[in-house]
Amino acid sequence: MPQLLEIVLLPHERDNEALLLQKAARQSGLRPDQIAHIEILKSSLDARTRHAVYRLRVEVYAQGEIFTPEPAILDGFKPVDGAKTVLIIGAGPAGYFAALELLEKGIKPIVLDRGKDAQSRRRDLRAIQQFGEVNPHSNYCFGEGGAGTYSDGKLYTRSIKRGNVYKALKLLVEHGSKSDILTEAHPHIGSNKLPGVVQNIHATIEKYGGEVHFEQFVTDFILKNERILGVVTQEVGEKPGTSEWLADAVIVATGHSARDIYRLLHRHNIRIESKPFALGVRVEHPQSLIDEIQYKQNQRDENLPAASYSLVCQIAGRGVFSFCMCPGGLIVPAATAPGEIVVNGMSMSRRDSPYANSGVVTSVEVEDLAPWQKHGVFAAMEFQSEVERRLFAAGDGSQKGPALRLPDFIAGKMSNRLPGTSYIPGFYPAPLYDLLPPFIYKRLREGLSQFGKQMRGYYTEEATVVATESRTSSPVRIPRDPVTLMHPEMERLFPCGEGGGYAGGIISAAMDGQNVARAVALAI
Ligand SMILES: Cc1cc2nc3c(=O)[nH]c(=O)nc-3n(C[C@H](O)[C@H](O)[C@H](O)COP(=O)(O)OP(=O)(O)OC[C@H]3O[C@@H](n4cnc5c(N)ncnc54)[C@H](O)[C@@H]3O)c2cc1C
Repeated sequence: MPQLLEIVLLPHERDNEALLLQKAARQSGLRPDQIAHIEILKSSLDARTRHAVYRLRVEVYAQGEIFTPEPAILDGFKPVDGAKTVLIIGAGPAGYFAALELLEKGIKPIVLDRGKDAQSRRRDLRAIQQFGEVNPHSNYCFGEGGAGTYSDGKLYTRSIKRGNVYKALKLLVEHGSKSDILTEAHPHIGSNKLPGVVQNIHATIEKYGGEVHFEQFVTDFILKNERILGVVTQEVGEKPGTSEWLADAVIVATGHSARDIYRLLHRHNIRIESKPFALGVRVEHPQSLIDEIQYKQNQRDENLPAASYSLVCQIAGRGVFSFCMCPGGLIVPAATAPGEIVVNGMSMSRRDSPYANSGVVTSVEVEDLAPWQKHGVFAAMEFQSEVERRLFAAGDGSQKGPALRLPDFIAGKMSNRLPGTSYIPGFYPAPLYDLLPPFIYKRLREGLSQFGKQMRGYYTEEATVVATESRTSSPVRIPRDPVTLMHPEMERLFPCGEGGGYAGGIISAAMDGQNVARAVALAI
């Protein structure tokens, strides 16, 4: 039996294999030459004390004990024979991982996405960043890999009971991600690496007989007697036209920003429900300041990663919390239609930007939305959209971010000048205290004051608050049976991922895709 040990290493010792062997030998009572293999199971950074350390959970195999590496999941893939076909709307993590799982089950997936392939998307991202032009089909949320491709690429999930996290991570590794995501306590890929991984998944889908089609905007469903038979798409590329696609089942994995899909479902009387979500702002600090606070060092040890934080408090019975913290990251314009201001955060794998940003949001419940109840199931979605449009209307028609210095946001007054930012379109001072809905502003103001007390140094003139952080999760749920994962009233329609209300993040969306694919395989 291998010995299970915890080995503590200083940041500069972390990649020193000789030292790891020495420490493993000392702690296991073996001589270094008696150790056949050290398997790292988990590596976590512990910055609670004055000197941060890495804690490694390892298995030590003595000579004669056999370490068997896990076989590659892709080794089990075979070309599908095409007998059964499933349409997947959306090439995000939910859609692509559903496609991989279907291939494993011998079923042919056909993935349709309104956006472009990962490479071609870049031009549209540049157009948003530099010229404020938002393509409603190709942006930070829409296109190959979905909202996950040009995201921050944090792969940590709390949804460990919802599926097989290890399998999702291992598939990412088998498609080009670094293997340390399997052992890091807070794994991260980065926006520069994600597109390559996504393109490799695309290649696998095609290699084993699946199909992926871009610029296919699903505009209608083909229905017969409470059963879905297929979808209609509009081609949004250079040759406009419509196509019909028929299959044995349809997985709807369109993400939290596909408002037209919710409207389409509603038009066909396919039940959807309004759902609580969270809305707020993004706060940006100099990364050096966050490092100083978290590591208690004037200058970060070069062997330590950019520091992060996680803050939460209760204001009048509602949570205010930091969300999607991006150390060494950038704030990006994540609108999915012209006329909206939406911000989000991302980072490169090295997390080396001089800024740290995170969403700071508060939950929006049904009780908060009395004036929007006239919109029925769209109450939360209309509220979300209205806030985004109001923030856009306050500006000059570009994607410049309406912002205030943190102390001014809390004091409810305009800032004369704003600090530098990672947000390429730039910030301008705007009265966020008037532009945000009063109940949101009030909770955020109180919450941010509390964060200033919880984390000394957080409350500073150097921090900027920018609106709107509004795409935290879906404001609509598409119901499904808990066992069959099928829509209760529409046979063979499978809501999936974040858009259905069943995931919040890359890995949970990927796992939901896998779960749904398994349910589909049982149903068809
Ligand atoms: C900038 C940014 C940073 C993020 N950072 C992180 C992070 O660090 N870690 C993390 O876990 N999560 C992060 N997220 C969230 C994460 O990306 C999402 O939770 C995840 O992508 C949801 O996966 P999904 O497959 O359910 O939906 P999506 O990824 O949203 O994919 C939906 C797909 O459906 C397509 N689609 C929509 N409507 C139609 C239609 N009518 N016809 C055809 N196709 C359609 C879209 O084009 C899109 O490709 C981030 C998101 C953004 C925007």
